[in-house]
Amino acid sequence: MLILGIESSCDETSIAIVEDGKNVLSNVIATQIEIHKKYGGVVPEIASRHHIEDISYVLQEALEKANKKITDIDYIAVTNKPGLIGSLLVGIMFAKGLSFRYNIPLIPVNHLEGHIYSTFLHQDVKMPATVVVASGGHTSIYNMSENHELNLLGETQDDAIGEAYDKVARMVGLSYPGGPSIEKNSVGGENTLNIPIPNVSGYDLSFSGIKTFVTNYINKCNMKNEEYRINDICKSFEIAAVENLKRKIVKACLDTNSKTLAIAGGVSANKHLRNELYTSLELKDVEIKFPIKMEYCTDNGAMIAAAAYYNLEYKSDIEKTFDATSTKEFHRK
Ligand code: ATP
Ligand code: MG
Ligand code: FE
Repeated sequence: MLILGIESSCDETSIAIVEDGKNVLSNVIATQIEIHKKYGGVVPEIASRHHIEDISYVLQEALEKANKKITDIDYIAVTNKPGLIGSLLVGIMFAKGLSFRYNIPLIPVNHLEGHIYSTFLHQDVKMPATVVVASGGHTSIYNMSENHELNLLGETQDDAIGEAYDKVARMVGLSYPGGPSIEKNSVGGENTLNIPIPNVSGYDLSFSGIKTFVTNYINKCNMKNEEYRINDICKSFEIAAVENLKRKIVKACLDTNSKTLAIAGGVSANKHLRNELYTSLELKDVEIKFPIKMEYCTDNGAMIAAAAYYNLEYKSDIEKTFDATSTKEFHRK
């Protein structure tokens, strides 16, 4: 089964062709990072306009790279929420146009389910699994059962981990997106700030305290006219943010007897996070799965196609509305 996955919820226009939810035949990503860099974050109006400019070319390239014709496609999957409304609408309207023109059934996909299924691309995930989305807008821990039911165990009560990376980077004058900038600048730094790990109950998380600790540290240095080392701030922040997430992940895996830990979203690209999880003694009996390619960590069409595939297989009641627009069209073979 061939699924065309369309993603346009934020600042990446991406279209992929995925076979049977696993084999990525093409995954074309037009990223707007360079455009939004000068504003320090994504400007929604600019983002939607670029999606409109890019989306037809991205489709053409995705078909060419996969060596397929649009008429070979069995389903079209499109991110319908959550995301920037103008950006989402570009992808949804484009998908609807294709669906009507070529009579291909359309499946709406939740962006977060997309991130989760990015860990299923080209690899097997054994259940029960603890699945984590650590991205720019979300930090959520789920349990996934044999039949792919998702049970939310906990989530951040304030900032997402990626958001904290982005905000701290901005504070110390590093460029957007903050994750890769902080990762790079933490090399050679030392954990001089020793930021305390928040104490939140259960599987819930908090990142705003870690971020505020950095703000206060910088303010204190400025008041005393003392220089601070950006490398040390990056290193200290990264250690605290990752340790914070790791503690809750370990607890979730052990409490639910998970066979697998699958971790997705932009922050899953982080080397320190990967290393901490891979070397954790508490997780020695848990198989750890990250998206197999770095390009599947951040927003991409392949994960949307994969999520649609597993929704078709496991969900008796696929969501029928594209509620970014509240229209009701839904086709199913
Ligand atoms: P959401 O998926 O929650 O709607 P989003 O789509 O903006 O949000 P993603 O595209 O999955 O999020 O990820 C982007 C986030 O990942 C940014 O906050 C970015 O700083 C962070 N990120 C990317 N690479 C790294 C890295 N190597 N280390 C840490 N964080 C990273
Ligand atoms: Mg992005
Ligand atoms: Fe995302």
